[in-house]
Amino acid sequence: VQNRLDAVINLAKRRGFVFQAGEIYGGSRSAWDYGPLGVALKENIKRQWWKTFVQGRDDMVGLDSSIILPSAVWQASGHVATFTDPLVECLQCHKRHRQDHLEEAFEAKKGRAAASMEEITCPDCGTTGKWTEPQMFSGLMKTYLGPVDNEAGQHYLRPETAQGIFVNFSNVLTVSRKKPPFGIGQVGKAFRNEITPGNFIFRTREFEQMEIEFFTAPDDAPEWFDRWVEACWSWFVDLGVDPANMRRFEVPEDERAHYSAGTIDVEYRFGFQGSEWGELMGIANRTDFDLSSHSKASGKDLVYFDQATGERYTPFVIEPSFGLTRSLMAFLVDAYAEEEVPNAKGGTDTRTVLRLDPRLAPVKVAVLPLSRNEQLSPLAREIAGRLRSLWAIDFDDAGAIGRRYRRQDEVGTPFCVTIDFDSLEDGAVTVRERDSMAQTRVKVDELEAHLAQGLIG
Ligand code: ATP
Repeated sequence: VQNRLDAVINLAKRRGFVFQAGEIYGGSRSAWDYGPLGVALKENIKRQWWKTFVQGRDDMVGLDSSIILPSAVWQASGHVATFTDPLVECLQCHKRHRQDHLEEAFEAKKGRAAASMEEITCPDCGTTGKWTEPQMFSGLMKTYLGPVDNEAGQHYLRPETAQGIFVNFSNVLTVSRKKPPFGIGQVGKAFRNEITPGNFIFRTREFEQMEIEFFTAPDDAPEWFDRWVEACWSWFVDLGVDPANMRRFEVPEDERAHYSAGTIDVEYRFGFQGSEWGELMGIANRTDFDLSSHSKASGKDLVYFDQATGERYTPFVIEPSFGLTRSLMAFLVDAYAEEEVPNAKGGTDTRTVLRLDPRLAPVKVAVLPLSRNEQLSPLAREIAGRLRSLWAIDFDDAGAIGRRYRRQDEVGTPFCVTIDFDSLEDGAVTVRERDSMAQTRVKVDELEAHLAQGLIG
């Protein structure tokens, strides 16, 4: 499976889905840049998420809050005090690691928990059991605003988008005329000073999240929690992720965030070395911790008064928290396939194909004139031009047609439209479907309608 993951990473780099940040200066593992196909895929994931969870629901509204927030927010949220992780340093090679990550990796490999750090081997130099005592380390990223770098100007970059939602709870409640149960969704960047970023875009210091904070009456929280677990699971499956590659992990009480009354992680089989599985997203019952804390710290009353029942309560929060960049990685890994297909010489070739759901595919249709030709090219360009107002279109007239099909298959383009010499006579083109490779002759006049059937959403 590691080879498969390597193949996906290789494809992602080779075809410009993902580049290393600052690559010409040697690169950084902290962050990655998304190339032409990567940004299109990421936008499509975001759009589907927004359509399903915000636009598509009567009980949800959207928000886009700022990345930099005053320290007071992070003090009230508990991040300044508790967003810390135990760090250990290898006495041999002096590389630092998060103790909990080392322990998780040990358990994934050996099938049991380590009795102590004595048993744990340094992943960098292979030395076993030589560790410093753990030290707590803050994962918050700091920045200084204003002319002087001092305490007063110190702000934090958000480590999650959630707090921006909580501090706007009352604003949104007033303007949206919603009442619990209702939720607020937001997509955006988050920053964490991760000690060991790695596994490609799985763990980075700069990443993107898609989060929902769903506010309910306290008694209704458990039921909404279950509903949200189902809704999140179904979103991935509906967009084509094989449920056999997903599992739910109920986080035990001692591993949960301090505010959580229940957390379920949805894990995906990424195929890492050691442990194949990694957290894709999590759903937590955050109780009334956030709104109560911000009420207390800000002095602004965030209690909800239900006029219909006369009840007063601080809403409980169910939080489905998705990693956008992690989801992108899961969609790529899940869509990746290599298969044997017949070739023109009566033998077989191996083709790489990304079976991305058409809604996610970065390019929807490739327009391919059979050859570069005075008559074919203008017609093909005209067709491409028309389709471009509807979908993301690629135009490619260089090289053998078989090779051009392969280039489109490996980036997941659902349809190729080929214009050949017959097209000049019969006003029809060949539409090739990615997965079945079936070819259909379609009249140019009917092309849009034909493609639209396969490109819904
Ligand atoms: P982990 O245990 O992997 O560090 P976490 O439990 O701290 O993750 P949450 O705080 O629950 O993660 O964050 C919600 C989601 O945000 C995660 O499920 C993941 O998809 C995404 N996420 C968190 N940290 C990172 C990161 N460093 N890089 C990329 N995505 C991340």
